[in-house]
Amino acid sequence: MKLDDVRAIQYGDVLVEGERWPNSIHVIEHPDGRILVDTGMIDSTPELDEQWGIRFDPEKIPRDVVCVVNTHLHFDHCGGNRLFLGTPIHVQRVEREAAREPDYTIPAWVEFDGATYVEHDGEAEIAPRVRVLPTPGHTAGHQSVLVDTDDGLVVLAGDVGYTWKLFDASESGQLLMSLRPRRIWLAHQADPRDLR
Ligand SMILES: [Zn+2]
Repeated sequence: MKLDDVRAIQYGDVLVEGERWPNSIHVIEHPDGRILVDTGMIDSTPELDEQWGIRFDPEKIPRDVVCVVNTHLHFDHCGGNRLFLGTPIHVQRVEREAAREPDYTIPAWVEFDGATYVEHDGEAEIAPRVRVLPTPGHTAGHQSVLVDTDDGLVVLAGDVGYTWKLFDASESGQLLMSLRPRRIWLAHQADPRDLR
């Protein structure tokens, strides 16, 4: 795998204090098959539309994947999980438990017939050169995905920070930086951070 085998797909955006923020999911073009990190949204609710002015395009979500990872289970990261009946979906156990609490997410977008979660308690290898690492803060069960490419470590850091400033100010952001990554992607920033 090369650096560019880990790609962002902007499937939509949300309105935050008058500004449009990109909503992205990510794919890893793995030799054993495509891995999807977060699943975006395929529908909405009047409440979410009202609060976030959400725009999304379900057609942008790739369907031909061998497995899925949820960085966490907020609505804009798990809304497309229902596309993947029977496909393994990797999540931290504490995150799935948290998603059962009121006002955390849209419960029906997480638990549905055919949902096939693979729960992890901490760090785990999910495919050769691909692992998940707990990066709590944004949520208790938030995890990042680490891809060991030929060009260096690529980190999919989800919502560790909405912005790079918030990322740098967080403990999990510091943890990820200590791994000396080559590139970091966030879910709500259009461009990655490249490091040498
Ligand atoms: Zn979130």
